[in-house]
Amino acid sequence: STSKDFLLSVEGLTVSFDGFKAVNDLSFYVDENEIRVIIGPNGAGKTTVLDLICGRTKATAGSIRFRDKELTRMREHEIVHAGVGRKFQNPSIYEDLTVFENLELSFPRGRGVFGALAFKRDAEVVSRVEEIAEMIFLKNQLKTEAAILSHGQKQWLEIGMLLIQSPELLMLDEPVAGMSVSERVKTAELLHRIIQDHSVIVIEHDMKFVQDIAHRVTVMHQGKVLSEGSMDHVQHDPKVIEVYLGH
Ligand code: ADP
Repeated sequence: STSKDFLLSVEGLTVSFDGFKAVNDLSFYVDENEIRVIIGPNGAGKTTVLDLICGRTKATAGSIRFRDKELTRMREHEIVHAGVGRKFQNPSIYEDLTVFENLELSFPRGRGVFGALAFKRDAEVVSRVEEIAEMIFLKNQLKTEAAILSHGQKQWLEIGMLLIQSPELLMLDEPVAGMSVSERVKTAELLHRIIQDHSVIVIEHDMKFVQDIAHRVTVMHQGKVLSEGSMDHVQHDPKVIEVYLGH
């Protein structure tokens, strides 16, 4: 065990598909309030790592410790409940509902029975929805139907739908894919807002964006960590250059 308390400690993580190790004895550690970016060529195992952390895929070996919890023993919904949120590439918003309604639906509700409690909860929901809407640049679009939002705004809305559940760790798969330049800039700003209270793991191919957001970069290749450190460190690492030029 390590002397430092990381938010997330992945150690010796391995998964085999028909004998092929898509993730092979992988270890990495994520701090609180950190933006970690995972990069690497296609097939390196990046998506599989996020699938393992969120419980979609079960590990063959290794451990994933999130605070004091061992995630490899937990089911997908238990991992969400423990505070890990995952955004996939395709938005899963409700197109025919408004921004407000999409956020409201994602608010984690208790099982209140009494009217007074329900009322109190509703007031709480409204203020939380407004707070999140402001964070994701949609405060003036609360009554807008999600269908008519731009591609970038839909991505932010889905991030908002995760944030309203107050996860400690957010995992995003290529968040700026298909975004305009100005949307990319605002997404970087959003991530910097998010890490005031959360940690983020991002899979990203856009190196300009990685440069803008990453505290540390983990470069994966053939299911393993090839290099890790600042963007400046990894982009000058001969092992990384060789792998990227080789592709
Ligand atoms: P990346 O996200 O870095 O492009 P992936 O994690 O998607 O890489 O895939 C890593 C490797 O694992 C690829 O060779 C892929 O074909 C394989 N793989 C991923 N998921 C499965 C699965 N469910 N069954 C079999 N092979 C898989």
